[in-house]
Amino acid sequence: MKKVSLIIPCYNEEAALPIFYCEVTSVMESLNYDYELVFIDDGSSDHTLSILKELSCNDERITYISFSRNYGKEAAMYAGFCSVNSDYVAVMDADMQDPPALLPKMLEILENKNYDSVATRRINRDGEPPVRSWFARCFYRLINKISDTDIVDGARDFRLMKKEMVEAVVSMEEYNRFSKGIFGWIGFRTYWLPFENSERVAGNSKWSFWKLTKYALDGIINFSEAPLAIASWFGIFLSFLSFVALGFIVIRRLCFGDPVAGWASTICIIMFIGGLQMFFMGVMGQYLAKNFMESKRRPHYIIAETNNTTIKKIH
Ligand code: UDP
Ligand code: MG
Repeated sequence: MKKVSLIIPCYNEEAALPIFYCEVTSVMESLNYDYELVFIDDGSSDHTLSILKELSCNDERITYISFSRNYGKEAAMYAGFCSVNSDYVAVMDADMQDPPALLPKMLEILENKNYDSVATRRINRDGEPPVRSWFARCFYRLINKISDTDIVDGARDFRLMKKEMVEAVVSMEEYNRFSKGIFGWIGFRTYWLPFENSERVAGNSKWSFWKLTKYALDGIINFSEAPLAIASWFGIFLSFLSFVALGFIVIRRLCFGDPVAGWASTICIIMFIGGLQMFFMGVMGQYLAKNFMESKRRPHYIIAETNNTTIKKIH
């Protein structure tokens, strides 16, 4: 019998976990597959870990991995990918925003059609503040223009993959992880399954507007070199402009003399160019900072506790 692993990152999900567990087991039991549930407790400060321990006592299909602190969802997903070895692997949120009811259809597509993964895409953003939706749409438009990697608008991390694809994801060992980009970069044939967005069943979203903005900027810097190219082109354009201006000043001096005037505009220009230089130095700094973190080669996560002794604790 083929085996399915479900990876579920959890950060302070004590309220949603019992509901999720009931739903997901009832769906999986109805299918003809062997399965395991791999929960990653991403340094929760509520009772997530004790609930997971309790569930795992009664259900041997549960693996829990508890991080030493909050490393973020990307690290949690990576820990999941590194610790499974099944025919099919899915990542899903614990809050029921990734409906377990879609799993049978996703499995059927991988079994019967010529695809390596089934990814989900929400077709609406109900329950989300309009400003957040607007910024999200702008982000997807921008990143698809300036990056070679295809990043689909509305794509969720919820996807089911064949083993080969998971191995490819695991082989991408970068420290600054942006899964939406990684999935696009590794390629493979992906079937996009649209579904209606729903609100989380319990608890709160862990994403503040600031965290999302940072995530979007990380995505751009990790998957595009365009900001650096823009900086160079701007530099070339301004140099060209300054030569033209120089020519203009020399001609004016020769034709009309040189009355002392225009200091205010000079200050404006100096400030404008100074600002631009600072901005582009900041852009370069961002890339340098990413490189700095990569070059340290720190582990992606540290596991404090798990019920699976074969898992590597520091990775
Ligand atoms: N999550 C995590 N670590 C974090 C933040 C979130 O493991 O630092 C998990 C969270 O428990 C949930 C999933 O990632 O299962 C998605 O989080 P959330 O529902 O807050 O995001 P949203 O659906 O609002 O994008
Ligand atoms: Mg959610």
